[in-house]
Amino acid sequence: DIQLAHRVQRIKPSPTLAVTALAAQLKAQGRDIISLSAGEPDFDTPSHIQEAAIEAMHAGQTRYTAVDGTGALKAAIIGKFRRDNSLAFAPEQILASNGAKQSFYNLCEALLNPGDEAVIPAPYWVSYPDIVLLADATPVPVFAGQEQGFKITPAQLEAAITPRTRLVVINSPSNPTGATYSASELAGLGEVLTRHPQIVIASDDIYEPILFGDTRFTNLLNVCPELAERTVIMNGVSKAYAMTGWRIGYAAGPKTLIGAMKKIQSQSTSNPNSIAQAAAAAALDGDQACVETMRRAFEQRQQLVSERLNALPGISCLAPAGTFYAFPNVTGAIKQLPGVEDDIGFTQHLLDAAGVAVVPGSAFGAAGHIRLSFATSTANLEEALRRIAVSLKVA
Ligand code: PLP
Repeated sequence: DIQLAHRVQRIKPSPTLAVTALAAQLKAQGRDIISLSAGEPDFDTPSHIQEAAIEAMHAGQTRYTAVDGTGALKAAIIGKFRRDNSLAFAPEQILASNGAKQSFYNLCEALLNPGDEAVIPAPYWVSYPDIVLLADATPVPVFAGQEQGFKITPAQLEAAITPRTRLVVINSPSNPTGATYSASELAGLGEVLTRHPQIVIASDDIYEPILFGDTRFTNLLNVCPELAERTVIMNGVSKAYAMTGWRIGYAAGPKTLIGAMKKIQSQSTSNPNSIAQAAAAAALDGDQACVETMRRAFEQRQQLVSERLNALPGISCLAPAGTFYAFPNVTGAIKQLPGVEDDIGFTQHLLDAAGVAVVPGSAFGAAGHIRLSFATSTANLEEALRRIAVSLKVA
């Protein structure tokens, strides 16, 4: 047998992609499956963005670009930060990549050494711990349950920090909970971080525009500008513009760190796809009405899903403030189902008895929960929730 690297044995394949693949496989076998596992908008990329890609191809933008992105894309990213976030960046502070996932990968590779610790609030996006492990460092999860709105407190952050802490991740709005930190909550975390100058902060803002009700987006740097010299903001076009397949994300931060991340990228994937870069520039520069149209659809579905989930026995769902995920606590429902022991068993029950695919909370560091994506039609959601209700009463 081929002896594999220790590195690859430390990590697991993405569990969310695995559920999505299993649901697709069952569907292909003829089973009637509704998948609520998708981590992407169900909308098509808006047509003006598609047109920009076609034009770019016809204009010969089919060659390698600068590693860190075209001038046009970097200008669009800088413009976006100025317009939406009141933050100023120079071109050397921007790195475009193949998705925000690569932005985080580049950051960990450029920053972390063996033995270094990365503080990751849980429930977390499944890839943070594994990407930290790929960089030979140690993920340190800090758990915040439903009773605290899935948001860590300054005291929890302080308690998790050691002399080995090099990185702290903030993801607001959060995948999988939709929890969104307010300006004052961020100021509280920022106050702790200012006292630990060895720490770099990764702010993952990829769900920025998908917010509901009166929730407003704030970035840590809006309340703690003094952290700019050691904060990297990650964002991208995947979720905001329904462009997951185009693979464009970006990072903005201190020059030295962005330069190191660029070096990593130059020896792994070079520049992101030239045509997708043109499309992303058009998305960021163009009419933003499409973002609002999709946000409104997610908001309506969020209301439906939260309401229906909370009506089910043994399930309690905190209405998410943003994103297209609901993250209900299902511990009560698990107790009521004979033979079901945990969230993984519960997910299996929903697949077998209801034909509904969801992701177990333990994949996100939060056993006893499930993640349902509402990036699917209202009709699908209604039917899925009806079937889940039946499967809980019949059992
Ligand atoms: N960050 C979070 C919290 C996510 O949920 C995702 C995608 O699921 C990403 C980053 C990566 O997005 P992309 O690589 O498509 O830009």
